[in-house]
This record gives sequence, structure tokens and C-alpha cells, in this order.
Amino acid sequence: MENKKILEVRDLVVSFDTFQGSVQAVRGVSWYLNRKETIAIVGESGCGKTVTIQTVVGLNPKKNGSVKGGEVLFEGKNLLDLTPKQMRKVQGNQLSIIFQDPFTYLNPTMTVGEQIMEPYLQHHAVSREEARQKAIEILKLISLPSPEENMKRYPHQLSGGMRQRIMIAMALICSPRIVFADEPTTALDVTIQAQIIELMNSLKEKIDTSIVLITHDMGVVANMADRIYVMYAGQIVEHGDSDTVFHRPKHPYTWGLLNSVPRLDKKVADDLYSIPGTPPDLIEPPKGCAFAARCPYAMNICRTSQPPRIEFEEKEHYASCWLNHPECIRRRGPVRREGASDGK
Ligand code: SF4
Repeated sequence: MENKKILEVRDLVVSFDTFQGSVQAVRGVSWYLNRKETIAIVGESGCGKTVTIQTVVGLNPKKNGSVKGGEVLFEGKNLLDLTPKQMRKVQGNQLSIIFQDPFTYLNPTMTVGEQIMEPYLQHHAVSREEARQKAIEILKLISLPSPEENMKRYPHQLSGGMRQRIMIAMALICSPRIVFADEPTTALDVTIQAQIIELMNSLKEKIDTSIVLITHDMGVVANMADRIYVMYAGQIVEHGDSDTVFHRPKHPYTWGLLNSVPRLDKKVADDLYSIPGTPPDLIEPPKGCAFAARCPYAMNICRTSQPPRIEFEEKEHYASCWLNHPECIRRRGPVRREGASDGK
């Protein structure tokens, strides 16, 4: 894997205006992606991961959403400075997205072949026959059986796994530099999930693309990601390579996410661990650590001051938690539950 940055998000701030006030959905988020790399942005629903990605690819609703600050640097250009027309040349061509629910996303009135060909026809000066051949080629690449016949079908005539493969074909037909996969396996059963993960891992090499994976499923992350950004309440709270985050997490929220992964050695009757409480109201985010109300380690300082980012000995491993501060006398740091699964 080449360590060459192709995308860098710097200090991104996004908010949405509502009748109740301004929801601060993304609060100073920074991350980067190298060529041929897969990164995962993980966190619960509402943590801001999807809003971040939609902002990067220019899909945020303009009506009430606005970017208040930051930069999205793609091959040296700040995508936030592009006009809608310039951005359309990048969308679906150099940056593409796989949405989480193929049944909702696919158009029920068009054959899947038409839908796969559409982005290719839009971004290339080719005939319909050339686009059809390209679609067949990409369907063969993703191992969809009988591509010519399946191209003539409508979404409802295909299984869930096949529909997700169609979504992947649509995202890949223009050979994008980066694919954003937003919960790509959520709507699928576990055996199909495994096939889709394997497919995406193999395609990364075959078409020279990089992947940004957005998910709350640590099992999917374990099987795909090189590095992990853990996001909570619109901020990155921990970052590191996959091995470090899975085996030496330093933030109680990461610890909670890892402990929520189902384990084969537990009895069916045992309750699956869940992080107590709910995320904070982002109209008025907490003054201190946003996780304080749910954190079993919370101290007085957590409720009054934002925890600083603290770096650890492993390369680029950092976490924002007061427990890791050198002056914290309760400094035991979060550990994983005995025998917790890494999801693989
Ligand atoms: Fe918990 Fe405090 Fe760390 Fe926040 S800063 S995660 S409240 S210990």
C-alpha cells in the first residue's frame, strides 16, 4: 500500500438549522486517506459520520445544512470551493458512494442495466452499446451470474445480495479514485455480508481505488479497514491502525463499541452489551467531554473541559480522553472485557 494521501479532510464543521436551533452535526473533524487504503469511520447513528461523507462528496442538503468551516482536499483541490457544475464532474466519476439500502436507492422503474450504465454515459463520450459492454464487464468483475440477463431485470426481481452488487457496480463503473461505502452490508444477512466484504477487498486491488467505510459494525471494520477513526457526537475521539484500536483502545467509547460485538463463546441467554444512555443533544453540545453522561469513568474535569488529544507510542494512535492525561491519578485507562471478540 502506498502512503500517498489522496484525500484530506481538515477541521470540517457542518451544522443544520432547525426550528429548535442549529444542530452542530460535525464539529472540527480531520482525517485523511492514502492511495489503495481502506479507512473506517465508526460510531453510532447520529454521530456525524454520514454527514461528513455527504459533505465530502457534495451531497448535503443545501436547504438547511451548511459547512461552517474546514477544507476537503482531493488531489490538491479544496472540493468545498467547487461550483455545483464542477462538483458534478467529480461525483460518480472520481468519487462514488455505495448507499446502505439498495432497495430504497435503486430506481424501481428502470432496469438495473440502465442504472449501471447511467453514470458511465454521463461522464464519458461513448455510445449506449459501449456503455452496455462496460456494464457487462463490471458485472463480470463483481462475479454477478448471467450479467446480460440480469441487466434486463428490475430491482425487485433480484435478491438483496444481488442488489447490493448492482450498487457496487454503479459505484465502480467509472473506476473512481475513492469509493465511500455507507453501511454497505447493513441490509444483508451474514453470509451475503461476508461475500460483499470479500468482494470489496478484492476490488480495491483490481481497480486501484481507495475505500472510506462508514459503519457501526466492528465486525465489518475488522475485516476491511487498515485504519480506524472512532467518531462520537460530531468529533473524532480515537484514531489508530486496526490492530491498535482493536487490541489497545484508549477511549471508553471505543471500549464500549468493541464490547458490543457479539461473541461466539457467550450463551444465547446472555444479554448483548450495549453502551448505556443516548448521544447528547448537538444543538447545545456539552461543555466538556460529550461522552461524560454515559461514561463509567467520568470525572469532574470531564464535565467542564474538553479532553485534549493525547498521542500514544503506536504510530498515529491518539484519543481524546482525560483518563490518558499524564496528571490523571485515576490513570488506569480503558481496557477490553476479558475475551472480547475482534469481530473476525
Ligand atoms: Fe469518560 Fe472523561 Fe474520558 Fe470523556 S474524558 S471518555 S467522560 S473519562
